[in-house]
Amino acid sequence: MRLNGKVAIISGAASGMGAATARMFAREGAKVVIADLLEHEGRQVAASIGDAARFERLDVTNEENWEAVVAATTRHFGKLDILVNNAGVSGSAEQDLYSTEAWHRIMGINATGVFLGIKYAIPAMKAAGGGSIVNLSSIAGIIGSVGIHMAYNASKAAVRLMTKTVAVQHAEDGIRANSVHPGIMPAMRTSGRTAEPAVRAQRMNVIPMRRPGEVDEVAYAILFLASDESSYITGSEIHVDGGAIAI
Ligand code: NAD
Repeated sequence: MRLNGKVAIISGAASGMGAATARMFAREGAKVVIADLLEHEGRQVAASIGDAARFERLDVTNEENWEAVVAATTRHFGKLDILVNNAGVSGSAEQDLYSTEAWHRIMGINATGVFLGIKYAIPAMKAAGGGSIVNLSSIAGIIGSVGIHMAYNASKAAVRLMTKTVAVQHAEDGIRANSVHPGIMPAMRTSGRTAEPAVRAQRMNVIPMRRPGEVDEVAYAILFLASDESSYITGSEIHVDGGAIAI
């Protein structure tokens, strides 16, 4: 098994790609903490996995929450090897693309939330002798987007660069950090315009593979970066986008 004996926290694991990743990690031998705001859904995902999973309530914007989730993880599973910063919100439901409120909210969850996760995971990973951090960015963190609040692009670009800084600053601690950049996937819970069938069909035209990705196609990339198979890979990024930004 590819993650035998590893302990992971996955933020936003109550749905979508986070839930798919949690299930895959558990199948590969990891103990997994499902950390999310959504208690009901998060507990269901944990229950469907069994003893290898626990739910912990987490608002990624809340520093005390992060401290508590990392402490609960090391208390119950003994250590922390892997952090997947996956929780996020879309920028495509905003009517006002210049809303300052939306800027602060999206940056707070997607960028500050990732910073805080890194901040509290690093000491636990040092204590474990090393670790792997996988951050969910997006192709929207590399290229501009039509019809979404620019805070989404800015936050995902921040995630991409925070990843590289962690890689550089913590290589000597045995901690690796890499980012994953999905393209068009099943819509997020918070998607607006980009979830509309007509808009999705139009976006499909610019994807060389002419189809959306599936959640497990992203989870496999996360699995590789989380596992020791990627032991010499840090500060790197994987695009899981059907060739969208290769054009
Ligand atoms: P999703 O909406 O299904 O899941 C996001 C999860 O994050 C939810 O369970 C939600 O409750 C949780 N979350 C939101 N705010 C939170 C907070 N403050 N604290 C804790 N948890 C919170 O979305 P998804 O498609 O699974 O997206 C996962 C990640 O992938 C996100 O970071 C997203 O930006 C990124 N991404 C998604 C797509 C896509 O098209 N779906 C494309 C590129 C990148």
